[in-house]
Amino acid sequence: MKTIAVIGGGASGMMAAVTAASEGARVILLEHGNQVGKKILSTGNGRCNFTNTLQEPFCYHSDNPLFPWRLVKRFGAQDAIAFFLKLGVYSKNRNGYIYPNSDQASAVADVLRMEMERLQVEIRTGTECRKIIPGKKHFRILTDREDVRADRVILCTGSKAAPNTGSDGSGYDLAKDLGHRMIPVLPALVQLRCREKFLKSIAGVRTNGRVSLYCGDECIAENAGEIQLTAYGISGIPVFQVSRWASRALYEGKEVTAFLDFMPDYSFEQTLAFLKARAAMRPQKRAEDFLTGVFHRKLSDLWIRLSGIGREKKAGEFTEKDMENLCGLIKKFRTTVTAANSFEQAQVCCGGIDTAEVNPDTLESLYVPGLYFAGEILDVDGICGGYNLQWAWTSGHISGKEAANDQDQSA
Ligand SMILES: Cc1cc2nc3c(=O)[nH]c(=O)nc-3n(C[C@H](O)[C@H](O)[C@H](O)COP(=O)(O)OP(=O)(O)OC[C@H]3O[C@@H](n4cnc5c(N)ncnc54)[C@H](O)[C@@H]3O)c2cc1C
Repeated sequence: MKTIAVIGGGASGMMAAVTAASEGARVILLEHGNQVGKKILSTGNGRCNFTNTLQEPFCYHSDNPLFPWRLVKRFGAQDAIAFFLKLGVYSKNRNGYIYPNSDQASAVADVLRMEMERLQVEIRTGTECRKIIPGKKHFRILTDREDVRADRVILCTGSKAAPNTGSDGSGYDLAKDLGHRMIPVLPALVQLRCREKFLKSIAGVRTNGRVSLYCGDECIAENAGEIQLTAYGISGIPVFQVSRWASRALYEGKEVTAFLDFMPDYSFEQTLAFLKARAAMRPQKRAEDFLTGVFHRKLSDLWIRLSGIGREKKAGEFTEKDMENLCGLIKKFRTTVTAANSFEQAQVCCGGIDTAEVNPDTLESLYVPGLYFAGEILDVDGICGGYNLQWAWTSGHISGKEAANDQDQSA
Protein backbone atom coordinates (compact mmCIF):
# COMPACT_ATOMS: atom_id res chain seq x y z
CA MET A 1 0.00 0.00 0.00
CA LYS A 2 1.28 3.42 -0.91
CA THR A 3 2.05 5.78 2.01
CA ILE A 4 1.33 9.47 1.51
CA ALA A 5 2.50 12.13 3.93
CA VAL A 6 0.37 15.25 3.94
CA ILE A 7 2.18 18.15 5.57
CA GLY A 8 -0.19 20.73 7.06
CA GLY A 9 -3.65 20.06 8.46
CA GLY A 10 -5.49 23.08 7.07
CA ALA A 11 -8.28 23.14 4.50
CA SER A 12 -6.20 21.90 1.58
CA GLY A 13 -4.28 19.31 3.66
CA MET A 14 -7.43 17.77 5.09
CA MET A 15 -9.04 17.63 1.65
CA ALA A 16 -5.88 16.01 0.24
CA ALA A 17 -5.78 13.50 3.10
CA VAL A 18 -9.46 12.54 2.74
CA THR A 19 -9.15 12.16 -1.02
CA ALA A 20 -5.93 10.14 -0.95
CA ALA A 21 -7.28 7.86 1.80
CA SER A 22 -10.54 7.38 -0.16
CA GLU A 23 -8.40 6.24 -3.07
CA GLY A 24 -6.91 3.52 -0.90
CA ALA A 25 -3.64 5.09 0.25
CA ARG A 26 -2.28 4.99 3.77
CA VAL A 27 -2.16 8.64 4.80
CA ILE A 28 -0.13 10.29 7.56
CA LEU A 29 -1.01 13.93 8.22
CA LEU A 30 1.59 16.06 10.01
CA GLU A 31 0.38 19.26 11.64
CA HIS A 32 2.57 21.40 13.86
CA GLY A 33 -0.36 22.98 15.69
CA ASN A 34 -2.31 21.23 18.41
CA GLN A 35 -5.40 20.83 16.22
CA VAL A 36 -6.27 20.52 12.56
CA GLY A 37 -8.34 23.08 10.66
CA LYS A 38 -7.69 26.01 12.97
CA LYS A 39 -7.84 28.67 10.24
CA ILE A 40 -11.17 27.36 8.97
CA LEU A 41 -12.72 28.32 12.32
CA SER A 42 -12.14 32.03 11.70
CA THR A 43 -13.32 32.06 8.08
CA GLY A 44 -16.37 34.04 7.01
CA ASN A 45 -16.58 35.69 10.45
CA GLY A 46 -16.98 32.26 12.02
CA ARG A 47 -19.56 31.15 9.45
CA CYS A 48 -17.18 29.86 6.72
CA ASN A 49 -18.01 31.05 3.24
CA PHE A 50 -16.67 27.81 1.77
CA THR A 51 -17.34 28.41 -1.91
CA ASN A 52 -19.30 30.53 -4.38
CA THR A 53 -21.60 29.47 -7.21
CA LEU A 54 -20.20 32.22 -9.44
CA GLN A 55 -17.00 30.75 -10.84
CA GLU A 56 -15.06 32.64 -13.51
CA PRO A 57 -11.36 32.77 -14.39
CA PHE A 58 -11.05 36.33 -12.99
CA CYS A 59 -11.91 34.99 -9.50
CA TYR A 60 -8.40 33.48 -9.21
CA HIS A 61 -5.05 35.27 -9.51
CA SER A 62 -1.59 33.92 -10.23
CA ASP A 63 1.49 35.11 -12.12
CA ASN A 64 0.64 32.10 -14.29
CA PRO A 65 -2.98 33.20 -14.88
CA LEU A 66 -4.34 30.08 -16.62
CA PHE A 67 -3.06 27.70 -13.95
CA PRO A 68 -5.79 27.94 -11.27
CA TRP A 69 -8.75 27.95 -13.66
CA ARG A 70 -7.59 24.81 -15.43
CA LEU A 71 -7.82 23.00 -12.09
CA VAL A 72 -10.96 24.71 -10.73
CA LYS A 73 -12.79 23.52 -13.84
CA ARG A 74 -12.06 19.93 -12.74
CA PHE A 75 -13.26 20.29 -9.14
CA GLY A 76 -15.41 23.40 -8.72
CA ALA A 77 -18.12 24.86 -6.52
CA GLN A 78 -20.75 22.18 -7.22
CA ASP A 79 -18.18 19.47 -6.49
CA ALA A 80 -17.31 21.13 -3.18
CA ILE A 81 -20.99 21.50 -2.25
CA ALA A 82 -21.62 17.83 -3.13
CA PHE A 83 -18.49 16.75 -1.24
CA PHE A 84 -19.61 18.47 1.95
CA LEU A 85 -23.18 17.28 1.54
CA LYS A 86 -21.84 13.73 1.44
CA LEU A 87 -20.11 14.44 4.74
CA GLY A 88 -23.39 15.71 6.19
CA VAL A 89 -23.07 19.48 5.69
CA TYR A 90 -26.13 21.11 4.12
CA SER A 91 -25.27 24.41 2.51
CA LYS A 92 -26.93 27.80 2.63
CA ASN A 93 -26.80 30.04 -0.45
CA ARG A 94 -26.63 33.81 0.09
CA ASN A 95 -26.57 35.37 -3.38
CA GLY A 96 -24.16 32.70 -4.55
CA TYR A 97 -21.98 32.81 -1.41
CA ILE A 98 -22.15 29.33 0.13
CA TYR A 99 -22.06 28.65 3.89
CA PRO A 100 -22.86 25.59 6.01
CA ASN A 101 -26.54 25.65 6.92
CA SER A 102 -25.61 25.80 10.61
CA ASP A 103 -23.64 29.02 9.93
CA GLN A 104 -20.80 27.45 11.91
CA ALA A 105 -17.33 27.24 10.43
CA SER A 106 -16.58 24.51 12.96
CA ALA A 107 -18.99 22.24 11.05
CA VAL A 108 -16.67 22.29 8.03
CA ALA A 109 -13.53 21.63 10.08
CA ASP A 110 -15.30 18.94 12.14
CA VAL A 111 -16.62 16.89 9.21
CA LEU A 112 -13.20 16.91 7.56
CA ARG A 113 -11.58 15.69 10.79
CA MET A 114 -14.30 13.04 11.29
CA GLU A 115 -13.90 11.83 7.73
CA MET A 116 -10.13 11.56 8.18
CA GLU A 117 -10.73 9.51 11.33
CA ARG A 118 -13.24 7.28 9.52
CA LEU A 119 -10.71 6.67 6.75
CA GLN A 120 -8.02 5.97 9.36
CA VAL A 121 -5.75 8.82 8.40
CA GLU A 122 -2.95 8.96 10.99
CA ILE A 123 -3.28 12.50 12.32
CA ARG A 124 -0.10 13.61 14.05
CA THR A 125 -0.67 17.02 15.60
CA GLY A 126 2.13 18.80 17.43
CA THR A 127 4.53 17.55 14.75
CA GLU A 128 6.52 20.08 12.79
CA CYS A 129 8.01 19.15 9.44
CA ARG A 130 11.59 20.50 9.31
CA LYS A 131 12.96 18.97 6.10
CA ILE A 132 11.85 16.80 3.19
CA ILE A 133 14.52 14.49 1.79
CA PRO A 134 13.67 12.77 -1.49
CA GLY A 135 15.33 9.36 -1.84
CA LYS A 136 15.51 6.71 -4.53
CA LYS A 137 12.64 4.71 -3.00
CA HIS A 138 11.07 6.90 -0.33
CA PHE A 139 10.89 10.40 1.01
CA ARG A 140 12.29 10.97 4.48
CA ILE A 141 10.52 13.68 6.39
CA LEU A 142 12.42 15.10 9.31
CA THR A 143 10.23 16.44 12.10
CA ASP A 144 10.72 17.64 15.65
CA ARG A 145 9.47 14.18 16.66
CA GLU A 146 10.13 10.89 14.88
CA ASP A 147 11.03 10.92 11.20
CA VAL A 148 8.43 9.77 8.69
CA ARG A 149 8.88 7.69 5.53
CA ALA A 150 6.48 8.11 2.67
CA ASP A 151 6.16 7.25 -1.01
CA ARG A 152 4.54 10.57 -1.84
CA VAL A 153 4.44 13.93 -0.08
CA ILE A 154 1.75 16.60 -0.41
CA LEU A 155 2.93 19.95 0.93
CA CYS A 156 -0.05 21.97 2.22
CA THR A 157 1.50 24.32 4.76
CA GLY A 158 -0.40 27.44 3.69
CA SER A 159 0.97 30.95 3.42
CA LYS A 160 2.06 33.57 5.97
CA ALA A 161 -1.42 35.03 6.44
CA ALA A 162 -2.93 34.88 9.93
CA PRO A 163 0.13 33.10 11.38
CA ASN A 164 -1.66 32.67 14.72
CA THR A 165 -3.57 29.85 12.99
CA GLY A 166 -0.33 27.98 12.27
CA SER A 167 0.60 29.17 8.78
CA ASP A 168 3.96 30.69 9.62
CA GLY A 169 5.50 30.43 6.15
CA SER A 170 7.81 27.55 7.09
CA GLY A 171 6.53 25.56 4.12
CA TYR A 172 8.09 28.02 1.70
CA ASP A 173 11.55 27.13 3.05
CA LEU A 174 10.80 23.42 2.66
CA ALA A 175 9.93 24.03 -1.01
CA LYS A 176 12.90 26.34 -1.59
CA ASP A 177 15.22 23.66 -0.17
CA LEU A 178 13.93 21.38 -2.93
CA GLY A 179 14.74 23.92 -5.64
CA HIS A 180 11.42 25.74 -6.01
CA ARG A 181 11.26 29.44 -6.80
CA MET A 182 8.96 31.82 -4.96
CA ILE A 183 6.85 34.60 -6.41
CA PRO A 184 7.13 37.31 -3.70
CA VAL A 185 4.79 36.46 -0.82
CA LEU A 186 2.83 39.55 0.26
CA PRO A 187 -0.32 40.28 2.30
CA ALA A 188 -3.58 40.23 0.31
CA LEU A 189 -7.27 40.63 1.18
CA VAL A 190 -6.11 43.19 3.71
CA GLN A 191 -6.63 46.82 4.77
CA LEU A 192 -4.47 49.57 3.24
CA ARG A 193 -2.60 52.19 5.24
CA CYS A 194 -2.64 55.76 3.90
CA ARG A 195 -0.57 58.87 4.58
CA GLU A 196 -3.07 61.69 5.11
CA LYS A 197 -3.68 62.84 8.69
CA PHE A 198 -7.25 63.94 7.84
CA LEU A 199 -8.30 60.28 7.74
CA LYS A 200 -8.62 60.42 11.54
CA SER A 201 -11.56 62.80 11.16
CA ILE A 202 -13.55 60.34 9.03
CA ALA A 203 -12.64 57.15 10.93
CA GLY A 204 -15.60 54.86 11.45
CA VAL A 205 -17.50 55.93 8.33
CA ARG A 206 -18.87 53.08 6.17
CA THR A 207 -20.24 54.10 2.83
CA ASN A 208 -20.87 52.80 -0.64
CA GLY A 209 -18.17 53.71 -3.15
CA ARG A 210 -15.59 52.71 -5.69
CA VAL A 211 -11.88 52.45 -4.99
CA SER A 212 -9.43 52.82 -7.89
CA LEU A 213 -5.70 52.25 -7.41
CA TYR A 214 -3.28 54.17 -9.58
CA CYS A 215 0.45 53.96 -10.20
CA GLY A 216 1.10 57.22 -12.01
CA ASP A 217 -1.52 57.41 -14.80
CA GLU A 218 -2.19 53.68 -14.84
CA CYS A 219 -5.22 52.28 -13.07
CA ILE A 220 -3.94 48.98 -11.65
CA ALA A 221 -7.16 47.80 -9.96
CA GLU A 222 -10.62 48.94 -9.01
CA ASN A 223 -13.61 47.60 -7.13
CA ALA A 224 -16.88 48.85 -5.68
CA GLY A 225 -18.88 48.13 -2.54
CA GLU A 226 -18.94 49.23 1.07
CA ILE A 227 -15.76 51.16 1.87
CA GLN A 228 -14.74 51.54 5.49
CA LEU A 229 -12.64 54.51 6.54
CA THR A 230 -10.27 54.06 9.44
CA ALA A 231 -7.88 56.32 11.33
CA TYR A 232 -4.93 54.82 9.46
CA GLY A 233 -6.41 54.19 6.01
CA ILE A 234 -9.07 52.34 4.06
CA SER A 235 -10.78 49.00 4.51
CA GLY A 236 -13.88 47.05 3.50
CA ILE A 237 -14.45 44.39 0.85
CA PRO A 238 -13.59 46.57 -2.21
CA VAL A 239 -10.31 47.58 -0.56
CA PHE A 240 -9.56 43.93 0.25
CA GLN A 241 -10.21 43.02 -3.38
CA VAL A 242 -7.64 45.52 -4.71
CA SER A 243 -5.10 45.10 -1.90
CA ARG A 244 -3.01 42.43 -3.65
CA TRP A 245 -2.15 44.91 -6.42
CA ALA A 246 -1.24 47.59 -3.88
CA SER A 247 1.00 45.12 -2.02
CA ARG A 248 2.75 44.13 -5.22
CA ALA A 249 3.19 47.69 -6.55
CA LEU A 250 4.57 48.92 -3.21
CA TYR A 251 6.90 45.91 -3.08
CA GLU A 252 8.18 46.94 -6.52
CA GLY A 253 8.88 50.45 -5.19
CA LYS A 254 6.01 52.16 -7.01
CA GLU A 255 3.89 54.98 -5.61
CA VAL A 256 0.29 53.95 -5.14
CA THR A 257 -2.61 56.39 -5.00
CA ALA A 258 -6.16 55.39 -4.13
CA PHE A 259 -9.03 57.43 -5.54
CA LEU A 260 -12.37 56.98 -3.81
CA ASP A 261 -15.58 57.71 -5.68
CA PHE A 262 -18.47 58.29 -3.29
CA MET A 263 -21.09 58.55 -6.06
CA PRO A 264 -20.01 55.64 -8.26
CA ASP A 265 -23.32 55.41 -10.11
CA TYR A 266 -23.07 59.01 -11.38
CA SER A 267 -20.56 60.60 -13.73
CA PHE A 268 -18.67 63.74 -12.72
CA GLU A 269 -21.04 65.84 -14.82
CA GLN A 270 -24.13 64.21 -13.32
CA THR A 271 -22.80 64.73 -9.80
CA LEU A 272 -22.00 68.38 -10.58
CA ALA A 273 -25.51 68.86 -11.97
CA PHE A 274 -26.95 67.25 -8.83
CA LEU A 275 -24.96 69.62 -6.58
CA LYS A 276 -26.05 72.65 -8.58
CA ALA A 277 -29.72 71.62 -8.50
CA ARG A 278 -29.48 71.02 -4.76
CA ALA A 279 -27.95 74.48 -4.23
CA ALA A 280 -30.65 76.08 -6.40
CA MET A 281 -33.38 74.37 -4.39
CA ARG A 282 -31.85 75.32 -1.01
CA PRO A 283 -29.87 78.55 -1.54
CA GLN A 284 -30.06 79.52 2.15
CA LYS A 285 -28.32 76.37 3.39
CA ARG A 286 -24.90 76.96 4.91
CA ALA A 287 -22.04 74.97 3.38
CA GLU A 288 -21.66 72.88 6.54
CA ASP A 289 -25.29 71.71 6.17
CA PHE A 290 -25.42 71.52 2.40
CA LEU A 291 -24.86 67.75 2.11
CA THR A 292 -26.72 66.69 5.25
CA GLY A 293 -28.82 63.65 4.43
CA VAL A 294 -26.79 62.68 1.39
CA PHE A 295 -23.41 61.79 2.88
CA HIS A 296 -22.10 60.96 6.34
CA ARG A 297 -21.59 64.16 8.33
CA LYS A 298 -17.92 63.40 8.95
CA LEU A 299 -17.32 63.15 5.21
CA SER A 300 -19.16 66.32 4.26
CA ASP A 301 -17.41 68.26 7.04
CA LEU A 302 -14.04 67.13 5.70
CA TRP A 303 -14.94 67.94 2.09
CA ILE A 304 -16.15 71.42 2.97
CA ARG A 305 -12.89 71.99 4.86
CA LEU A 306 -10.69 70.65 2.03
CA SER A 307 -12.67 72.47 -0.68
CA GLY A 308 -11.87 75.85 0.84
CA ILE A 309 -15.57 76.81 0.92
CA GLY A 310 -16.21 78.61 4.22
CA ARG A 311 -18.51 76.65 6.55
CA GLU A 312 -20.90 79.59 6.78
CA LYS A 313 -21.10 80.33 3.06
CA LYS A 314 -24.65 80.01 1.66
CA ALA A 315 -25.27 77.40 -1.06
CA GLY A 316 -26.76 80.11 -3.29
CA GLU A 317 -23.37 81.90 -3.20
CA PHE A 318 -21.25 78.89 -4.21
CA THR A 319 -19.11 79.71 -7.22
CA GLU A 320 -18.52 77.39 -10.17
CA LYS A 321 -15.08 76.68 -8.69
CA ASP A 322 -16.61 75.79 -5.28
CA MET A 323 -18.97 73.34 -6.99
CA GLU A 324 -16.18 71.74 -9.00
CA ASN A 325 -13.93 71.41 -5.95
CA LEU A 326 -16.70 69.77 -3.97
CA CYS A 327 -17.58 67.49 -6.86
CA GLY A 328 -13.90 66.53 -7.24
CA LEU A 329 -13.73 65.51 -3.58
CA ILE A 330 -16.88 63.39 -3.91
CA LYS A 331 -15.88 61.75 -7.18
CA LYS A 332 -12.08 61.58 -6.92
CA PHE A 333 -11.11 61.66 -3.27
CA ARG A 334 -7.38 61.12 -3.29
CA THR A 335 -5.30 59.34 -0.67
CA THR A 336 -1.75 58.00 -0.80
CA VAL A 337 -1.28 54.33 0.04
CA THR A 338 1.85 53.81 2.12
CA ALA A 339 1.55 50.10 2.97
CA ALA A 340 -0.73 47.11 3.19
CA ASN A 341 -1.48 45.95 6.70
CA SER A 342 0.65 43.07 7.93
CA PHE A 343 0.39 39.30 7.47
CA GLU A 344 -1.31 39.18 10.88
CA GLN A 345 -4.30 41.07 9.48
CA ALA A 346 -4.29 39.55 5.98
CA GLN A 347 -6.80 36.86 5.05
CA VAL A 348 -4.49 35.41 2.40
CA CYS A 349 -1.19 36.07 0.64
CA CYS A 350 -0.48 36.70 -3.00
CA GLY A 351 2.63 34.95 -4.31
CA GLY A 352 4.07 31.60 -3.28
CA ILE A 353 5.55 28.64 -5.14
CA ASP A 354 5.90 29.56 -8.81
CA THR A 355 3.26 27.48 -10.55
CA ALA A 356 5.34 27.38 -13.73
CA GLU A 357 7.38 24.75 -11.85
CA VAL A 358 4.34 22.61 -11.02
CA ASN A 359 2.48 20.20 -13.32
CA PRO A 360 -0.81 22.01 -14.10
CA ASP A 361 -2.74 18.73 -14.34
CA THR A 362 -1.46 16.86 -11.31
CA LEU A 363 0.07 19.51 -9.00
CA GLU A 364 3.28 17.46 -8.88
CA SER A 365 6.60 19.27 -8.66
CA LEU A 366 8.43 19.42 -11.97
CA TYR A 367 11.71 19.02 -10.04
CA VAL A 368 10.95 16.38 -7.41
CA PRO A 369 8.87 13.40 -8.63
CA GLY A 370 6.36 12.33 -5.99
CA LEU A 371 6.16 15.75 -4.32
CA TYR A 372 2.80 17.54 -4.69
CA PHE A 373 1.47 20.90 -3.56
CA ALA A 374 -1.96 22.16 -2.56
CA GLY A 375 -3.54 25.31 -1.15
CA GLU A 376 -2.21 28.75 -0.50
CA ILE A 377 1.45 27.70 -0.56
CA LEU A 378 1.13 27.94 -4.34
CA ASP A 379 1.10 31.26 -6.15
CA VAL A 380 -2.69 31.34 -6.36
CA ASP A 381 -5.02 33.69 -4.50
CA GLY A 382 -8.73 34.09 -4.94
CA ILE A 383 -10.92 37.14 -4.62
CA CYS A 384 -13.02 37.57 -1.47
CA GLY A 385 -16.18 35.43 -1.43
CA GLY A 386 -15.32 31.76 -0.89
CA TYR A 387 -12.69 31.45 -3.61
CA ASN A 388 -9.67 30.82 -1.40
CA LEU A 389 -11.32 27.88 0.30
CA GLN A 390 -12.50 26.70 -3.11
CA TRP A 391 -8.86 26.76 -4.21
CA ALA A 392 -7.96 24.71 -1.13
CA TRP A 393 -10.68 22.12 -1.96
CA THR A 394 -9.74 22.03 -5.66
CA SER A 395 -6.02 21.69 -5.17
CA GLY A 396 -6.37 19.37 -2.15
CA HIS A 397 -8.70 17.05 -4.03
CA ILE A 398 -6.63 16.91 -7.22
CA SER A 399 -3.26 16.50 -5.49
CA GLY A 400 -4.69 13.80 -3.19
CA LYS A 401 -6.14 11.87 -6.10
CA GLU A 402 -3.07 12.19 -8.29
CA ALA A 403 -0.64 11.29 -5.51
CA ALA A 404 -2.69 8.21 -4.61
CA ASN A 405 -2.98 7.02 -8.19
CA ASP A 406 0.33 7.87 -9.83
CA GLN A 407 2.09 4.67 -10.76
CA ASP A 408 5.58 5.86 -11.66
CA GLN A 409 7.43 4.92 -8.49
CA SER A 410 4.83 3.23 -6.28
CA ALA A 411 6.15 1.33 -3.35
C1 LIG B 1 -9.78 35.68 9.06
C2 LIG B 1 -9.86 34.87 7.78
C3 LIG B 1 -11.09 34.71 7.16
C4 LIG B 1 -11.17 33.99 5.96
N1 LIG B 1 -12.40 33.78 5.41
C5 LIG B 1 -12.50 33.05 4.27
C6 LIG B 1 -13.78 32.74 3.72
O1 LIG B 1 -14.82 33.03 4.32
N2 LIG B 1 -13.81 32.08 2.53
C7 LIG B 1 -12.67 31.68 1.88
O2 LIG B 1 -12.75 31.10 0.81
N3 LIG B 1 -11.45 31.91 2.42
C8 LIG B 1 -11.34 32.56 3.59
N4 LIG B 1 -10.10 32.77 4.15
C9 LIG B 1 -8.90 32.20 3.47
C10 LIG B 1 -8.81 30.67 3.71
O3 LIG B 1 -9.04 30.41 5.07
C11 LIG B 1 -7.43 30.15 3.31
O4 LIG B 1 -7.16 30.51 1.98
C12 LIG B 1 -7.34 28.63 3.45
O5 LIG B 1 -7.67 28.23 4.75
C13 LIG B 1 -5.93 28.17 3.10
O6 LIG B 1 -5.87 26.79 3.29
P1 LIG B 1 -4.43 26.06 3.29
O7 LIG B 1 -4.71 24.64 3.59
O8 LIG B 1 -3.68 26.40 2.08
O9 LIG B 1 -3.62 26.74 4.50
P2 LIG B 1 -3.94 26.77 6.07
O10 LIG B 1 -5.39 26.64 6.31
O11 LIG B 1 -3.24 27.95 6.60
O12 LIG B 1 -3.27 25.42 6.61
C14 LIG B 1 -1.88 25.23 6.67
C15 LIG B 1 -1.60 24.29 7.83
O13 LIG B 1 -0.25 23.86 7.79
C16 LIG B 1 0.30 23.86 9.10
N5 LIG B 1 1.75 23.99 8.98
C17 LIG B 1 2.45 25.06 8.50
N6 LIG B 1 3.77 24.79 8.49
C18 LIG B 1 3.90 23.53 8.96
C19 LIG B 1 5.03 22.69 9.17
N7 LIG B 1 6.29 23.06 8.87
N8 LIG B 1 4.82 21.43 9.68
C20 LIG B 1 3.56 21.00 9.98
N9 LIG B 1 2.47 21.78 9.80
C21 LIG B 1 2.63 23.01 9.28
C22 LIG B 1 -0.40 25.04 9.77
O14 LIG B 1 -0.38 24.94 11.16
C23 LIG B 1 -1.81 24.97 9.18
O15 LIG B 1 -2.66 24.18 9.96
C24 LIG B 1 -10.00 33.46 5.36
C25 LIG B 1 -8.77 33.62 6.00
C26 LIG B 1 -8.70 34.30 7.21
C27 LIG B 1 -7.36 34.45 7.89
